Amino acid sequence: MSKMMRAARMHEVGKPMEIERIPVPEVRPGDVLVKVKACGIVPNLGNVLSNWGTWFPHLPLPKLPAIFGLDPAGVIEAVGSQVIGFKPGDRVYVNPARYCGACRNCRAGETTACASYTFNGYFGFSRRSQRIYDDYPYGGLCEYMTAPQYSLVRIPGNMRFEQAARLGYLGTAYRALRTAGVGPGSTVLINGISGTLGLGGALFALALGARRILGTGRNVELLQRVKALAPDRIHVHALGKRPMRDWSDEVTEGEGVDAVIDALGPGADPRTLLDALSTLRRGGKLVNVGAVAGEVPVNLHYLMDNDITLVGSAWFTTAQGQEMADLAEAGVVDLSVFEHHSFPLEKVNEAIGGIEHRSGGFSNFVICP
Ligand SMILES: [Zn+2]
Repeated sequence: MSKMMRAARMHEVGKPMEIERIPVPEVRPGDVLVKVKACGIVPNLGNVLSNWGTWFPHLPLPKLPAIFGLDPAGVIEAVGSQVIGFKPGDRVYVNPARYCGACRNCRAGETTACASYTFNGYFGFSRRSQRIYDDYPYGGLCEYMTAPQYSLVRIPGNMRFEQAARLGYLGTAYRALRTAGVGPGSTVLINGISGTLGLGGALFALALGARRILGTGRNVELLQRVKALAPDRIHVHALGKRPMRDWSDEVTEGEGVDAVIDALGPGADPRTLLDALSTLRRGGKLVNVGAVAGEVPVNLHYLMDNDITLVGSAWFTTAQGQEMADLAEAGVVDLSVFEHHSFPLEKVNEAIGGIEHRSGGFSNFVICP
């Protein structure tokens, strides 16, 4: 008789998840079994999943029924015979980024470029993703999940599981900052600074030593909360009041910004991204991690003449996840700004569907199975 656990499973797109009893998975040689303590959820998850087929036909969902849950953190319960360096009792965040280890990009160490790149507990980026789901069918919305040892971020004693369950969105912003080369002395503009991604960008830009952080947003009250994190270094701008370029020229004394992280939310006007692009200095870099969709008319000649780079960035590596955990351990980044809203697994549908009055990126919604 195998041990049983509770899992939230989706049987049909658009239908509520069902809480079911299924066997606790067996741990395979290179994997660990994690007892999930907290799993972060995207506020808009229900809506996104309902419309998945029409919005993102190029990104396949796992075969149903499936256990979703992108951002799990917990404690290692058991380890496989080939696991080195982790043991039962270790506190970990499970990076959901799965890769094959065998394609040319993986073998070159570029695992984010894996031809089978897949988000465990969410969706795949490739037609080959189902092969990965066959091996890793457990997202974080259950009591126990398996994970490969390459996916584990060791979380420090001063980091709560609820904070660790935020590492996915923080990591997306962190990798964008690293891709943009943000460090001591940098001036960076974060387009959409008060949202879930943007606030993470602000926190890690502070930690990485950025000299000036410019942030845009729509909600003036939230913008002031972000500014209050570091009033001398953070400058905020309410969208629509005056041209973004005029404001950024004023803050940078006409120099322009070194980097732009675009973290605009779903439905944002593409012109807002182009406005941010116009704030870059010669040789600057825009990294897009936001949700601007569809065609964006970019003046490529302008980019060439001004030696400007425009690049996309997807998620983050487990090594970058560990860097973030280490920055938190050292007290260099402050993750105490989040307001945690925790729900039991049984309330997963309410948690996913009913989150509308959140305080921008400051709110952090987690399921604690
Ligand atoms: Zn690969």
